[in-house]
Amino acid sequence: MTSASTIAAADAARLPIMLTELRLPTIKRTWAELAEQSNRESWPAERFLGMLLEQEMNERETRRLARARADSHLPPDKSLGSFDFAAVPAVSKAHVMALAEADGWIGQGHNLLAFGPPGTGKSHLVCGLGHALIDRGYKVLFVRTSELVQRLQAARRDLRLPSELAKLDRFDLLILDDLSYARRDQAETSVLFELIAERYERRSIAITANAPFSAWDEVFPDKAMTIAAVDRLVHHATILEMNADSYRRRAALPARRQRSAIEAQ
Ligand code: ADP
Ligand code: MG
Repeated sequence: MTSASTIAAADAARLPIMLTELRLPTIKRTWAELAEQSNRESWPAERFLGMLLEQEMNERETRRLARARADSHLPPDKSLGSFDFAAVPAVSKAHVMALAEADGWIGQGHNLLAFGPPGTGKSHLVCGLGHALIDRGYKVLFVRTSELVQRLQAARRDLRLPSELAKLDRFDLLILDDLSYARRDQAETSVLFELIAERYERRSIAITANAPFSAWDEVFPDKAMTIAAVDRLVHHATILEMNADSYRRRAALPARRQRSAIEAQ
């Protein structure tokens, strides 16, 4: 004789295996408690199923975001929320917020170039945009330009450059931090040109640089390549000129004033 509860127990016993097979870890964790509540409160089956699926979808999205953020190598604390726009009057907050919406540039391979002296918040601002784009479902990678150049150069030596470039292709936005620190004598920077040419009009690049274009001759192997690289980068680009005082220095100032005031006592 089989009672309804025996059948229910037999079904329940099969569930964990099926949920593992289907890769539904959230439902696997939550179904028992929710089933109990559903039985107790006589929910319609649609409501029970809907709740389970909704939880799975929500957690899946949370895991996806966490993975994308970890893959991005973005410094976690450099968000737009912690960026003080009042410190850089030359940069319009509304413009940056529009860029954070992604419309009209990401996905069309348009670029973003941030110029200015050290400490003016170029990296912070671009990383903040990176975080905002991840929130919107885009894939972003943050790299120091000189490190990427070395990686690409090693790949070229091993005849793996195309596959290394293909790996970078899955990122909607590639942030090349401190481009002007990459030096042609430090490593063969023509790989950087190949990367720029490869992504041109397809995949976006964001660059931070202390030095203006005129000094990029120091970065690329020859003048013709510098011109060709700059040409491709600026063809569809937003340029942010961050000509402000160093935020680091300004942040340090009050502390120093305090110290000297104490010393003067
Ligand atoms: P840059 O890349 O231009 O050299 P960073 O983005 O590294 O400058 O900024 C230097 C430091 O100052 C970082 O710790 C950054 O978070 C902080 N910082 C710079 N500008 C701002 C700003 N406008 N609001 C908040 N923090 C800022
Ligand atoms: Mg920087």
